[in-house]
Amino acid sequence: MDYSSTITRLRRSFRDGKTRPLQFRISQLEALGKFLEENKIQILESLKKDLNKPSFEAELSELSLVKSEINLALNNLGSWMKDEHVSRNMVTMMDTAFIRKEPFGVALIIAPWNYPVHLSLIPLVGAIAAGNCAVLKPSEISQNTEKLLADGLPRYLDKDCFAVVQAGVDDTTRLLENKFDFIFFTGNPHVGKIIMTAAAKHLTPVTLELGGKNPCYVHDECDIPNAARRIAWSRFFNAGQTCLAPDYVLCSNNIKDKLLSALKTTIHEFYGEDPKLSPDFGRIISDRHFKRVSALLAYGKIVTGGQTDEADKYIAPTVLIDVKDTDPVMQEEIFGPILPVFTVSGFDEAVNFINDREKPLAAYVFSSNSQIVNQFLDRTSSGGFCANDGIIHTTNINLPFGGIGHSGMGMYHGKFTFDTFSHNRACLLRSDGREKLNEIRYPPYSESRLGFILYSMETKRKWSCAVM
Ligand code: NAD
Repeated sequence: MDYSSTITRLRRSFRDGKTRPLQFRISQLEALGKFLEENKIQILESLKKDLNKPSFEAELSELSLVKSEINLALNNLGSWMKDEHVSRNMVTMMDTAFIRKEPFGVALIIAPWNYPVHLSLIPLVGAIAAGNCAVLKPSEISQNTEKLLADGLPRYLDKDCFAVVQAGVDDTTRLLENKFDFIFFTGNPHVGKIIMTAAAKHLTPVTLELGGKNPCYVHDECDIPNAARRIAWSRFFNAGQTCLAPDYVLCSNNIKDKLLSALKTTIHEFYGEDPKLSPDFGRIISDRHFKRVSALLAYGKIVTGGQTDEADKYIAPTVLIDVKDTDPVMQEEIFGPILPVFTVSGFDEAVNFINDREKPLAAYVFSSNSQIVNQFLDRTSSGGFCANDGIIHTTNINLPFGGIGHSGMGMYHGKFTFDTFSHNRACLLRSDGREKLNEIRYPPYSESRLGFILYSMETKRKWSCAVM
């Protein structure tokens, strides 16, 4: 597949300045909102076909979050786009110094399959709001939603500025050979490296939203039934296929049995006697992922769950114990409805366990002791953090969302989405007169001129009169 004509068309529109005016951006954001509204039933249906996603979960995690991003951008775009004036030093005292929020140009958005609407459209909101053209490549794995986006979006958005490309791995490889001005990728860390390598050939800046294993430490002092409900909801939402889900639990032997019993009770309360019959529990996206996730059930001992049905891509919400830290279930991102509970001696061992591993996208602590919560926050590092709950911090779009180290680079959500798709252009407007003021920096140089210019340029340490 040759994508160059699509990219050329978009680049021409960008160069013509079509995407820059506030009014154009507003019209496209409104059109995106209209797409969501008018196609809501079809979107819910395609998410059902792809992931058996309960409509409650789809409305919450796919539609509502995108709508919030669109509305926040529409409410604030005028002020976000304004030049940001900055203070001046003595050398630039007579000038105007400001930061212009400039669009990059043609952006490429590559999305995964687990939240195929949300993870395609929130970056697209950023691309539009910041004045870029964009190529969106949804995941080919969530094929019904991919088709819906590919057929539907061009009926709402300006075709000369925005394109949806349906591509598997080979075609995406070809797509990536083209030069983009910015790449926003969401997916796994292995593919993240491939994307970054392709981007490096053109020195294209990237945001990488990746995955990993999110630790969840349950401290002895905590409300165990509440912790169990919140952990189970976060783990089993979307059948465990959430990048932010607590991937494994760490707790001491003192509370292990109580926690396991509370998790069992919770799973029963949430999904009934047989979770396979529950309308509120999703399915694994594909046969390949079904095989990968169900193979992880071979490790440790099953406390509850463990049933599978390949034809239905069903894996029961499962809790495991007695896993070894070298088992694949404790080494690779689970990305399915399996929750290993791993025993540690206490807080210090839990923190060391986490810090011995790659930095996760999220780290969770459950404790009613605020000192424990604060120490956990101080002594660990992760993209995001939530005390006494899981995944819910992502619903507050005033918080940046993104990873650190192995879980990604860059961030978005809310105003951060606009900032991510904008280049901060440093601007200084000077007069072409007032030449007397400039003479001091021209040759022939002298010590006294240097002293004066350094004095007027340098930032001094506060409260210090010493010359440093
Ligand atoms: P993936 O990396 O396999 O695929 C993501 C996208 O990359 C898809 O559009 C796919 O077509 C494309 N792709 C796959 N292989 C490619 C290759 N070799 N070259 C070019 N493009 C390629 O990820 P996935 O399986 O769709 O999603 C699951 C992963 O994504 C998990 O690791 C999860 O944690 C992560 N994730 C992260 C976030 C986040 O916001 N940080 C959100 C959702 C999922």
